[in-house]
Amino acid sequence: MLETIAEFDELGQAGFLALYGYPAARRYLLIHDGKEHDSKAIAGVAHNYEYGNALTWQEFSGGKDGVARWLSDLGFTVRAVPNPNLSWDELVLVCDLVVKNSWKGFDATNPQVVELSKLLNLAPIRPAEARGETFRNPNGVARETFELATHHPAYTGKPTSGGALDLKVIEALLARPNEMAQSAALLRQGLLSGDLTGDVPADDDDEEFNAPEGRLLLRRHRARERSPKLRQRKIDSVLKAGGTLACEACGFDFEKTYGPRSADYVECHHVIPLHRAGEGATKLSHLALICANCHRMIHCSAPWSTPEELSQLMKDSHVNQDHR
Ligand SMILES: [Zn+2]
Ligand SMILES: [Zn+2]
Repeated sequence: MLETIAEFDELGQAGFLALYGYPAARRYLLIHDGKEHDSKAIAGVAHNYEYGNALTWQEFSGGKDGVARWLSDLGFTVRAVPNPNLSWDELVLVCDLVVKNSWKGFDATNPQVVELSKLLNLAPIRPAEARGETFRNPNGVARETFELATHHPAYTGKPTSGGALDLKVIEALLARPNEMAQSAALLRQGLLSGDLTGDVPADDDDEEFNAPEGRLLLRRHRARERSPKLRQRKIDSVLKAGGTLACEACGFDFEKTYGPRSADYVECHHVIPLHRAGEGATKLSHLALICANCHRMIHCSAPWSTPEELSQLMKDSHVNQDHR
C-alpha cells in the first residue's frame, strides 16, 4: 500500500490515473500524510505489489462496502467526496416542490422527497461513476428544500448558506411562476419517460445559450432544430409553397449574398417556448427559418424573443439610429 501511495505521489494524480487507466471520478479519498489519493486506484494498483497484477477499475467495487471499508479496516483514513452542488435543472425540480408546500422545507422521510431523490438520480447531469453513495439521497434533497425555503424574500429567520444559483432559481421562480412550474412538469415527465435521460454529447456547445428552463429542455430544443431531416423537410415545404429561404426575422438570404455555394443554407429555430415544448414529434409549423446571426440573438437572452419580436427590435433600433 505504502509503495503504491509513494508511486501516486511521485507521478501525481493525473499521471497515476492515466498510467493505470482509472477515471478521475471519485467516491472516496484515501488521506495519507495530509494528501488526497484516489482510493480505488490506490487499492487496484496495490494489488500489483501484493499479487503481481494490477486490477482494472471495472474489476472490483470502489463503494462503501468495497475498497473504502477495506482501506479503513487497514487503518487508513478514508473520506467521502462531497456531492457536487445541485445544477439549475435539479434546483428547478426541488424548488417546484417547495413552492407547492407554501415555501416550507420537507423532512427526508416525506414520500415526495423520496420520489424526487429517485427522479434526480435519473437526470443525466453527472456521470454515474462520479456519483457517491449519498448522491442526491433523500437527506440531501430535504436539506435543499430547507435551504431554498429560507432564501425566499419573505422568510424572516436567518437564511442558511445557500449557493448563488439557489437565489437565481428563486428569482426566476418569483418572476415567472407559471413558466417555471411548467418547466418542472416537463422535466419530470421527460425524466420519467426516458426522453431526457440520454447521455450528454461530448461536443455540447450550448453553454452560450441562455435558458432558465435548464439544460435538459434546452438540449431537446437544440436537437430538434438541428435535426438534418427536419430541416430538409422544412426547406422543401417552404420552397414547394413558393417561398424563399430568407431569414424570417431580418430577411437575409444566404444565396443572394454568398451565391450558389450557400444555396439551401439556413438554420431552423424551434419557436415553441421551452417550458411548453413537451415530448412528441416536431411539427414543421414549429420551425422558423432563421439566419445564423438572428438565431444567436434569439438565444442570447432569456426569455427568448420570437422571430417577429426580433424583427420588431431591429426596426426600432434602425429608427433610433436614424434619429441620432
Ligand atoms: Zn436574420
Ligand atoms: Zn433555436
